[in-house]
Amino acid sequence: MARNGASFLAEVGHLTAAVGKTMGVTLRNFLRRPVTIHYPDVKREYPERFRGLLALTYDTETGEENCIGCRLCEYICPPQVIGVEMLKGEKRNYAKTFTLELYACEYCELCVQVCPTDAIVMMRSVDLATADRRELLLDKDRLHELGLRYEPSWATGTKLRGMQAPPKVARE
Ligand code: SF4
Ligand code: SF4
Repeated sequence: MARNGASFLAEVGHLTAAVGKTMGVTLRNFLRRPVTIHYPDVKREYPERFRGLLALTYDTETGEENCIGCRLCEYICPPQVIGVEMLKGEKRNYAKTFTLELYACEYCELCVQVCPTDAIVMMRSVDLATADRRELLLDKDRLHELGLRYEPSWATGTKLRGMQAPPKVARE
């Protein structure tokens, strides 16, 4: 009987210690500043090298579409979410249609890396939340509109390919 009483007291001791420890954690987190923000009323500043939404760009000097409809992005895309039809022109080619299923995009950036004209780039934003999946099926107009709405990231295809180039052999 005495042994049962001792083991009961030991159990109560363990339980009290466990509750005390848990309450300590709760109290510490209660006093800590929240890590969440009231999005979209409050927006977090993205880091300098952040890359998010995909978009199509215009040539800043001529105002022409940069995309030449070459379809390299379509071929490289792992989940095959890009579809491009080329429109042949006299001096250059264009994308007749360009679709991107953003809801299935892996954000791997391979399409950006292979683009010879820096036409497809990632923006410094991911603010395209929606409850309607169809809104994330982007056509050429919407991709251009996103390119004008958001700030482009630093990472164009030209810059990314430049970073992968082997180091130059030092001259003797
Ligand atoms: S980021 Fe990757 S997955 Fe998304 S469209 Fe480009 S190549 Fe495809
Ligand atoms: S976005 Fe670039 S890679 Fe894709 S079709 Fe246009 S020019 Fe070619």
